[in-house]
Amino acid sequence: MHSPNPIQCVVPDYVLVEIAKRGDEADRDAALSTLAVSTTLRSARSQAEAARSAAGTPLVATAGLREPTMDRVIRDAKTGVDTGSPIVRKEGDGRVGDPAVDEAFDHFGMTWKFFFEVLARNSIDNAGMTLDGVVHFGRKVDNAFWDGDQMLFGDGSERLFTRLTKSLSVAAHELGHGVIQFDGPLVYQGQSGALNEHIADAFGVMVHQWVHHETVEEADWLLGAEILAEGVKGKALRSMKEPGTAFDDPRFGKDKQPAHMKDFVVTAGDNGGVHINSGIPNKAFFEIASALGGRSWERAGRILYATLGHEQLRRNADFRQFARLNHRVAGQLFGVGSTEAEAVANGWASVGVEI
Ligand SMILES: [Zn+2]
Repeated sequence: MHSPNPIQCVVPDYVLVEIAKRGDEADRDAALSTLAVSTTLRSARSQAEAARSAAGTPLVATAGLREPTMDRVIRDAKTGVDTGSPIVRKEGDGRVGDPAVDEAFDHFGMTWKFFFEVLARNSIDNAGMTLDGVVHFGRKVDNAFWDGDQMLFGDGSERLFTRLTKSLSVAAHELGHGVIQFDGPLVYQGQSGALNEHIADAFGVMVHQWVHHETVEEADWLLGAEILAEGVKGKALRSMKEPGTAFDDPRFGKDKQPAHMKDFVVTAGDNGGVHINSGIPNKAFFEIASALGGRSWERAGRILYATLGHEQLRRNADFRQFARLNHRVAGQLFGVGSTEAEAVANGWASVGVEI
C-alpha cells in the first residue's frame, strides 16, 4: 500500500546514498543527515495520513472556488524542521532581504503565473490554494521537498548542493508535484511514478523557459542547474535533452538516467526508479517540443497538461498507456493526424515507446 501523498524530493535518495559511499567524511555527513530528514518526513507524513483517515476527514480539502489571486506565505524554520514555523513573508509584503525567503516567494509567484496565464489553472489545486513554503528547513539539508501540502527548502551543505531556493525549475518541479497530486494522481512507484517525476520536470523546465522567454532551441532543458555546489562536476540534476549527462562526479557518481526503453533500469530502489526512468518520457517530451518548435508550453506543454487532467488517465498508467493517451489528446486538441499528433507519436517512438 503506497501512501497517497508520498514525500517527493528533488534530489533522489540514490544520489545521496552514492555520495555517502564515495565522499569524504564531511560529504558523508551532509548526505546522511539529508537522508535522515527525508526519512523523518516520510514517517511524519504517513502518521498524519493515518490520523486523518482514522478521523474520516478527506485528504484533499474541497475548498470552494475563490477569486484567482495569488496567495503566498513563506515560513522560516531557522534550521529546525517545524513545518508550521512562523510566517516571515506573505502576499503583499515587500522583500525581507533574506535571499532564501525572497527567492522562494518570487519562484512561487512565477510558477503560479505560469499555471494561471498559460494553463488557466488557479493555483495547485485549481481552487486558489495558498502556496506555502518553508525555508531554512533543517540544518544544511541538501534537498527540497513537496510534502503533500507545502514546499520545504533546505539550505544545502555547500559541499554537495547550494541553497535549494536558488533554482526556479526546482520550485516549479515541487509545486508541479502538487498539481499532479490533484489531477493525476500518478502512483509514485515504477513507471507511473517515473511519469509523475517526468511531468514535474516538464513543469520545472517550462516555467523556467516561460519566464526567460526561451524557444525550444534556446533552452538548456536542465533541471536544477543553479543548485550544484561549487566544484561538483556536472551541469544540473537532470537533463531532459540528454538524460544521463547531467553530472559525472567522483562523489555523486554518474547520472543514471536512460534516454530510451532499451536502457530501462529495473531496480527496487528509488521507488522502482522514479527519478531514473523518468529520463525516457523526459526525452520523449523534449523530442515532441523540438519537432513542433517555438515555445514548449504552447503546444507540447498544453498537450501534456491535458493528458494529466484527462479522465482516462489511470493512476498506475505505464509509459505506453500514457503515450497513447498523450497521442489521443493531441488529436482532440489539434486534430487527428495533425502535425501535433504526429509529433507526439514520433516523440514516443524515438525513445522506444510505440503507441
Ligand atoms: Zn520530484
